[in-house]
Amino acid sequence: MFWFDYFCRYYAGWADKDHGKTVPVDGDFFAYTRHEPVGICGQIIPWNFPLLMQAWKLGPALAMGNTVVMKPAEQTPLTALYVAGLAAEVGFPPGVLNVLPGYGPTAGAAIVQNPAVDKVAFTGSTEIGTIVSQEAARQLKRVSMELGGKSPAIVFADADMDAAVANTYFGVFFNGGQCCCAGTRVFVEEQIYDEFVDRCVAKANEQKVGDPFILGQDQGPQVDSDQHEKILQLINVGKKEGAKLCTGGGRKGDRGYYVQPTVFADVQDNMTIARDEIFGPVMSILKFKGLDEVVERANDTIYGLAAGVYTQDIDKAMHLSNSLRAGTIWINSYDIFDAAAPFGGYKASGHGREKGQDGLHEYTEVKTVFIKIPQKNS
Ligand code: ADP
Repeated sequence: MFWFDYFCRYYAGWADKDHGKTVPVDGDFFAYTRHEPVGICGQIIPWNFPLLMQAWKLGPALAMGNTVVMKPAEQTPLTALYVAGLAAEVGFPPGVLNVLPGYGPTAGAAIVQNPAVDKVAFTGSTEIGTIVSQEAARQLKRVSMELGGKSPAIVFADADMDAAVANTYFGVFFNGGQCCCAGTRVFVEEQIYDEFVDRCVAKANEQKVGDPFILGQDQGPQVDSDQHEKILQLINVGKKEGAKLCTGGGRKGDRGYYVQPTVFADVQDNMTIARDEIFGPVMSILKFKGLDEVVERANDTIYGLAAGVYTQDIDKAMHLSNSLRAGTIWINSYDIFDAAAPFGGYKASGHGREKGQDGLHEYTEVKTVFIKIPQKNS
């Protein structure tokens, strides 16, 4: 509950601070703007971080005075319903927060298509985000989208090796790889390539995979059989297309949806595992030679959610952070989030931002008011 509380408290602080301004205009007018609620917001969230996604969406919507109809993922409805129960218990007025569990094409589509819904905020796959955007466009609804990614992590030869290995590894394997911003394309400069691969393989071999209710596990099962199957299929495609399987590469055990932590080396840019989002514990390591080359290759993707850069050279770090087309750049770190710092995608990773002050703009309409100022002799 910590993260839920943290994001909601942050946005609660904005409730009386996001306001309009007076605008100096030509002529005898006093002009000002008001930030008004958009209205009824349909919010559709995924299963990979159920409570966190709920907080990122509820916080700004409620703080700006909207009402919400939220659909949690069909795999994870219980936490969302529990939060709705707590909201009722603490006295939310009826109708302000509504949680509607169900499947995407029925409950989700009904929210998107309902003319009473003014805005749709969606987090999920790029494929479904495209469908939702098209449906919402029929009624010209406001839309914000947080979608998939295939984020690059770029490791230069001058990086602090221990930190680079730890961060890039975490960036791939955190939450069993079920993260939209996972840094799954790991570009490593040629001088340190072999050592880097060996160290990641050693870490993968040490990773404890098992029932997360037993303390001490690093990685639990994937969310369901569909995801499990999809990940194993993509691993097979990686093998067939000629990537070098260094460790893992299959199912772990014969019960539960476990996948062995998998590391591929010698991955080429055009391989499926370097282009498609896998959403599982699979690291693809690619070799690079120079700065311009790696910028071009890292940007050669339909996605643009995040990127990691590892170097001790501030000039390189700044150059990369300006050149990479992604919504968040982590320098010598990965997966750092703060309620005040906006998060969102370029390109097919979506549009609009969540968190921070930027996240508020997704939930307000700006109204401009002109008042005629009577002149003495007119
Ligand atoms: P993931 O790949 O993370 O499972 P999805 O994009 O499939 O993501 O699903 C994210 C959310 O979108 C879920 O709550 C799901 O039920 C919902 N969803 C799926 N299909 C539709 C649809 N056609 N219209 C609205 N919501 C949908």
